[in-house]
Amino acid sequence: MAQRLPLIIFALVMALIPLVPGIPPFWIVLLDNIGLAALVAMGLVLLTGVGGLTSFGQAAFCGFGAYTTAVLTTAYGVSPWVTLPASLLVSGIAAVLLGIVTVRLSGHYLPLGTIAWGIGLFYLFSKLEFLGRNDGISGIPPLSIGSFRMLSPDTIYYAIWIAVLLCALLTMNLLDSRTGRAIRALRRGHIAAEAFGVQTPRAKLLVFIYAAVLAGLSGWLYAHFQRAANPTPFGAQAGIEYLFIAVVGGAGYVWGAVLGAGIVVILKEVLQSYLPYIFGGQSQLETIVFGIMLVLLLQLAPSGVWPWLMSLLPFKPSRKTPNTSIKLEHPTRASGSSPVLLQIDKARKQFGGVTAVNDVSFDVNAREIVALIGPNGAGKSTTFNLITGVLTATSGKISVLGKEVENAPPQEVVKLGVSRTFQHVKLVPDMTVLENVAIGAHLRGSAGAVASMLRLDRAEEARLLAEAARQIARVGLSDQIDQLAGSLSLGQQRIVEIARALCVDPMLLLLDEPAAGLRHMEKQRLATLLRQLRDGGMSVLLVEHDMGFVMDLADRIVVLDFGTKIAEGTPAAIKRNPDVIKAYLGAAA
Ligand code: ADP
Ligand code: MG
Repeated sequence: MAQRLPLIIFALVMALIPLVPGIPPFWIVLLDNIGLAALVAMGLVLLTGVGGLTSFGQAAFCGFGAYTTAVLTTAYGVSPWVTLPASLLVSGIAAVLLGIVTVRLSGHYLPLGTIAWGIGLFYLFSKLEFLGRNDGISGIPPLSIGSFRMLSPDTIYYAIWIAVLLCALLTMNLLDSRTGRAIRALRRGHIAAEAFGVQTPRAKLLVFIYAAVLAGLSGWLYAHFQRAANPTPFGAQAGIEYLFIAVVGGAGYVWGAVLGAGIVVILKEVLQSYLPYIFGGQSQLETIVFGIMLVLLLQLAPSGVWPWLMSLLPFKPSRKTPNTSIKLEHPTRASGSSPVLLQIDKARKQFGGVTAVNDVSFDVNAREIVALIGPNGAGKSTTFNLITGVLTATSGKISVLGKEVENAPPQEVVKLGVSRTFQHVKLVPDMTVLENVAIGAHLRGSAGAVASMLRLDRAEEARLLAEAARQIARVGLSDQIDQLAGSLSLGQQRIVEIARALCVDPMLLLLDEPAAGLRHMEKQRLATLLRQLRDGGMSVLLVEHDMGFVMDLADRIVVLDFGTKIAEGTPAAIKRNPDVIKAYLGAAA
């Protein structure tokens, strides 16, 4: 409830504004425009700020929303309340079609792609006969409830702002959920997210559709506000402006969209009204001043005005700590026929001319800690990537519990009970330790986006967070549970990755250099934990350079050199092996 209080106050203030006696109607129009822009920008917060998919083309989706209701209400006399779902649906379907081809693009090609269809759709809107070409469609009926017709800016105001508040609430709910964590991992942690079962292409398409539907809603409202629709507001320039709004407000923050819309819409209005006086009627100057002011604003608050404002607040919103007594069911997995947990049979990986893994074979049995050692570049991490499906083997066979995992993607391998950490830590730095670790439990939940938005996921969510909190306690990081992952030391981040991997409830844990960056005491604690896990029935395959740590801990050691297995045996035998001493251990051993 405490978290809802600011929202309730904001809603009350917004509800009272039109009732203030003597308030200039022009202010209300401005607020209407702010609300309309905020809806589009909110979609961009999810798509671009959170999901990392930059789109310059959102205005086109407003166009789909606006033209759908324009055509249906004027040509067919359909009620606007019936065209609302139609407008959202058309925007959504357009997003699916454009999204399927666009979200595959990577790097700079994605924003370029959105510019391309932004421009293309603008011309489509302005050329189609039944959309009224450049003149557009006029005579769109107002929204009405019974005999109450929302003809004036201060009546449709309520429709617009109820939509804004509702969408803000739904978006925040979505972000604070299982699906939300998957979305938040898209930008800076998609490889790790995939390793825990997140279907990243699906998550990308989801935010793409979500953003388009919000834009479609804005377009639908716009059409009934203006009572007309023409192509101009749905072109590429508007698309760029929406992105501006999201960035200025704070692209990662739902309320940043509302704030950004306020700043940009008001700034533009003020400049357009007053600059001509100052510069004696010179046109177009406001665009230049507008641009300069926005750039200055971004200098002041590089990640947007909203987070900057929040950092000035004397109090910080606190989070409820999960109730760790709630239990999560163990995952059900197909039981295999083989006593060998992991079997690697002549696995080979070539990168062009480099043979990173050269016909390597070894097994990991149940309840066993196996260490994979060797000099840098020996192929250890590549072997991990072959096992977990990040890379596909050039040849050879890898089986888990007797089941061959040929070409299985990471999302499938983790379902077999194999989880991992990464040599180069892959956490989402701007998510808390708890949220990062909860990604590990992704497959142990099932709530989807709609359930999350409507808060129907709370019971499951509590179980997932409880499991995450339990694993965090297990690795000894309870004190850091609410800190941002990016604020921890590298050593601690590695431990967070172990907690995340444990959330899978794995049978086999793959750890890539888990002790790197740890202090002596922390290494001892880690070794104790890994022994406990083994004694509890788990198997561990680890890559590690700290020979004291490895020799003490491992039941068996596999040594790689230049991609080839040169030895395998007990720590005692490996220490004495002349080939290993020559290639790796040197005089130190
Ligand atoms: P290790 O983890 O044992 O230090 P790696 O498995 O990371 O070694 O690397 C083994 C070899 O494969 C190195 O020569 C490395 O340069 C090469 N390699 C690893 N990943 C790639 C890649 N994605 N593309 C090309 N070469 C790679
Ligand atoms: Mg490595």
